[in-house]
Amino acid sequence: MTPSQGKIIIISAPSGCGKSTIIKAIMDRGNVDMKFSVSATNRQPREGETDGVHYHFLSDGEFREAIANDAFVEYEEVYPGRFYGTLKKEVEDRCARGENVVLDIDVKGGVRVKEMYGNRAKSIFIMPPSVEELRRRLESRGTDPKEAIDQRVGKAEFELTFAPRYDTTVVNDNLEEAVDNAEREILEFTSPQA
Ligand code: ADP
Ligand code: 5GP
Repeated sequence: MTPSQGKIIIISAPSGCGKSTIIKAIMDRGNVDMKFSVSATNRQPREGETDGVHYHFLSDGEFREAIANDAFVEYEEVYPGRFYGTLKKEVEDRCARGENVVLDIDVKGGVRVKEMYGNRAKSIFIMPPSVEELRRRLESRGTDPKEAIDQRVGKAEFELTFAPRYDTTVVNDNLEEAVDNAEREILEFTSPQA
């Protein structure tokens, strides 16, 4: 018997709003049956990041080759010279096997993927309590130099204007509450009756 197609969960927000933290917490709870779509990027790995787990880390040339080989569902130059792309093998192959996949992608990519997959995708926008708090979180994460933090915060106000284009918004003020709310949305969407 052919398995029914898996569903796509899109999690987007400006950098530092808590996408990775929330996705990891939901996966660790284990209540939702979904796999993480590992994107490709040409940025350098941060400390603690593993190739093939957090991202497929590609050289500039390898990223260009993947574009030429039509390997992406979508890709974006999220920061100047920094490309990120959702790989077909991570999404389409898995959905075809009946697996649900969760995507941590930027706001433009998220809107694009929702347009492509319609009702098969649920798009969730993670909202920070404020832009000032977003800066504090990026600073305390300690993974980016000051210029990168300035760049990310500078872009956040523009990115926040994308929120109304998402199916739903989850405010990440208290982390537990945000995880509960996002998990509930995903459970409702992925339950067989939905
Ligand atoms: P993103 O994946 O959206 O870039 P992260 O998940 O890396 O964001 O979160 C950015 C930083 O903020 C991390 O250091 C994380 O631990 C912290 N953080 C996430 N959610 C909260 C929260 N509700 N309250 C305080 N700190 C948070
Ligand atoms: P970071 O460098 O902090 O890991 O990610 C920077 C931004 O790129 C985040 O907003 C993240 O969601 C986004 N991103 C990660 N993977 C993809 C992808 O495959 N496609 C798009 N469009 N954005 C992505």
